[in-house]
Amino acid sequence: MSELSELYQAVILDHNKKPRNFHVLENANHTAEGFNPLCGDQLTLYLQLEDDAVKDISFVGTGCAIWKASASMMTQALKGKTKQEAEALFDEFHRMVTGQLDEEEEPNHLGRLTIFAGVREFPVRVKCATLSWHTMHAALNEQEKVSTE
Ligand code: ZN
Repeated sequence: MSELSELYQAVILDHNKKPRNFHVLENANHTAEGFNPLCGDQLTLYLQLEDDAVKDISFVGTGCAIWKASASMMTQALKGKTKQEAEALFDEFHRMVTGQLDEEEEPNHLGRLTIFAGVREFPVRVKCATLSWHTMHAALNEQEKVSTE
């Protein structure tokens, strides 16, 4: 368990120092804004969809360490995925952090994203970890704004 939390800490730190895909995406054809009033996390999510697949994805915004690491890793995970695969991954991630998916027992596509499994112990943090995912889902479905409240 302490090994897992060390990995978790290291990954969170790394993504906070060097967030991936952290910029405005000029060629975006879908965008959405997300806000988590409980913590103050907010972002704009940019998606470039081509033939129903995520050609490029990026984000900008401000927030806590869990928010930033989660958004950063999400963009890495979704590049090249189809819309359907992106929605399926969102569902798995959401179920994992809310305790409805056991990432060790149930087959899933989460890969490195399983380091966020621990946030299910902290309901307040679940919103930080899922904000970017909800915002991505909104962007895919032509909604412009999402709030976790
Ligand atoms: Zn937060």
